[in-house]
Formats: sequence, C-alpha cells, structure tokens
Amino acid sequence: MVLFGRDIAIDLGTANTLVSVAGQGVVLSEPSVVALDTKTDEVLAVGSVAKRMIGRTPATIVAVEPLKEGVIADFGVTEKMIAHFIRRVHRRGRRRSPGRSLLGPRVVVCAPSGATDVELRAVREAAVAAGARRAYTIEEPLAAAIGAGLPVEEPEGSMVVDVGGGTTEVAVISLGGIVTKASVRVAGNEMDKAIASFVQRKHKMAVGTQTAERLKIEFGSALPVEGEEPAEVSGRNLLSGLPKTVLVTSEEIREAIRLPVEAIVETARDTLDSTPPELAADVFDRGMVLAGGGALLRNLDERLSRETGVPVHVAEDPLGCVAVGGGRYLEMLGHLGTALSSALSGIGRREDLMGIEHDVPEEHVDRPPSNP
Ligand code: ADP
Ligand code: MG
Repeated sequence: MVLFGRDIAIDLGTANTLVSVAGQGVVLSEPSVVALDTKTDEVLAVGSVAKRMIGRTPATIVAVEPLKEGVIADFGVTEKMIAHFIRRVHRRGRRRSPGRSLLGPRVVVCAPSGATDVELRAVREAAVAAGARRAYTIEEPLAAAIGAGLPVEEPEGSMVVDVGGGTTEVAVISLGGIVTKASVRVAGNEMDKAIASFVQRKHKMAVGTQTAERLKIEFGSALPVEGEEPAEVSGRNLLSGLPKTVLVTSEEIREAIRLPVEAIVETARDTLDSTPPELAADVFDRGMVLAGGGALLRNLDERLSRETGVPVHVAEDPLGCVAVGGGRYLEMLGHLGTALSSALSGIGRREDLMGIEHDVPEEHVDRPPSNP
C-alpha cells in the first residue's frame, strides 16, 4: 500500500502542455487548447481534440488557447486545463493500481516567465483544488535546464535557450537560481505567421497557420541544408478564389522566417552580454543548451553557435525536457536537506532560488499517518 500519489510535473507551454509522472516519464502531451460551451462555460474538450476545433466551431462552442503570447491570457481557462490534466493522470494511475495511494500527488507546474506572482499562486491553488497534496511552481527555463541535465546547483554558469510556440526564453543559471534572463514573444508561432504571409504576398495564395507550421517543420531551416527540395503547397487563390498549388523553395521559407530567427539569435546574444563575466566564461567553455520545439528547426543550433561564438547543444528531448526537469526538481526538493541547501545557505532562502513552495491548507500537508 502506497501512501502518497506519484509526483507529477506539468509543463504549461503556450503551444503544448506536457505531464510527466515520477518513474514513468512524460505520460501526456497535448496542445494547450480548451473547447468550451459558450453558454454554460462547461469544458467540452481539451488538447488535440480541441485544437482541431479552432476555426471550425459553431457559435455555441469556442476553442481557447489560454496561454497566448507567453503569458497567461485567460486565467480561468488555464485553471480548468490544469485541473483536467491532473485528474486525467491521477485517475489513470488509480486505475492501474486501484486504491494504492491515499493522498494526492505533489505537483509542480512549470510556468511561463511572464506569469505574475498572483497568477503563480493561483496556479498552485488550482493544482491543490484538483487533488495535489502539495503544489509548487518553477520558472520554465530552470526546469528546462534541469531536464537537459545541466549542473544547475553548481556555482557554474549554465545557459539555456528555450524556443517554444509563443515565446523564446533565455536564462543563465548558477547555484540553483536564474542569474540573467530574457524573454521575447518571438518563437514558433511567429515563424508560422511569417511563412503564411510570405506565401500570401509572393504567390497570392491564402494558407492557414497549420499549413505554414507543416512547411516550417518539413522544409524550414536557419541555414542552408544539404539536399533541399521545394515544397508543394495547396491553398486558395486570393484573386480567383479557386484552389491552387504552388512550389515553395526552402530558400524562400528561410527568407520568410529570417526576422523571427534573427530575433531569437539576438536575444541569446543580449543575454550573454548582460551575464556576469565569470558565468559568461563558463558558458563560452561549455556551451548553451537549445530546448523547446523550436530547437528542432534545422540548423538553428549551427546558426546560434556561429553568431554567438558559443557551442550549442540541442537537448536530448527538446519538447519533453521542461516536464522531465520539473519532475527532477521535485526529486531534488526531497534531498534539499543535504548538499543543495547548505550550498545555498547565506545566498537566499531556497524558495527564492528554486521556485516557490505554496503554503497549502492544513489538510493537504503531508505528514506521517497518525495510525500506520
Ligand atoms: P511551448 O513550450 O510554448 O508550448 P513547445 O516547446 O511545445 O512550445 O514548441 C512548440 C513549437 O515548436 C511550435 O511552434 C512548433 O511548430 C515548433 N516545432 C515543433 N517541431 C518542430 C520542428 N521539427 N521544426 C521546427 N519547429 C518545430
Ligand atoms: Mg515550453
């Protein structure tokens, strides 16, 4: 008989929400989209089912992306989404081993760095309301760095560039805390929009952002790639209104996403510039880690490396590393009594450095059973 539910980490991304469970890894990955009944506000679908409804809903249904632009744009819907995913994972665990856990899991939510303190608190409360016995929040770049295996608790500079859907988040970490960081609202979505408007301008053809995203994933790059082939794209002719197919070259796509790519490179460079020299030297030595779905854009690592002079390593699992890192952070909390907390004493309280622990109501506090 197990007393506690397994630890859960949630990567609350602008494009995708991932959930990892201790001992199991990433168990769920869904688009951050919620479909609601406009009359009753009831949740009708969450994730990929809801994403397919975007642009296809009747008046009574609305498909919401609650984390647009790297901030929590619609808090009520974000809360509902968190609750939905926690219950789904927790319930699944129960089915596998019924009656095994008496108390809810510890939950850590990796939040976008644009979230305010009030929002972070509300996120933790939403997790507790959904059954967490303890809830924490952690800044996304810190979770990404932990997930990528960087030695974040050492007195050494570790740099991570996380290119997501809505934002690119860059951070340099040392001794368990973020030393310098930057966040720009330019990432994957911006590239999709740029490709769509390029096709519209150049070929007088309307394509949706989902088509543009496919073009980016299959044919996009930040520097020329060997064996490039043109892509066939279908859309609606803007002049005649009739269906139309054109050929778009990889070079054209690269040109279309030039500005967003440059903005990402610039953000990394600026962050390095404002990093204390000792830590910057560590980064120049050991390199930076590229994470997030945008890390998969071909040759973005090479481009970043060329323009910053720093070696770039793509995280082993760029899409999963925030959720994995969140899970590892919970494990680390368990060991904080030892090495990490003594390394940190005198610098700040560990809550300040490693995210914030939520003071949960008395009934949620984990303590040994009174009658084992
Ligand atoms: P977030 O953390 O904001 O939810 P993710 O890290 O999940 O974002 O990344 C989503 C972004 O990554 C999307 O814009 C998606 O188009 C992009 N992406 C996913 N795979 C690739 C790929 N192979 N090449 C380029 N971009 C990709
Ligand atoms: Mg992310």
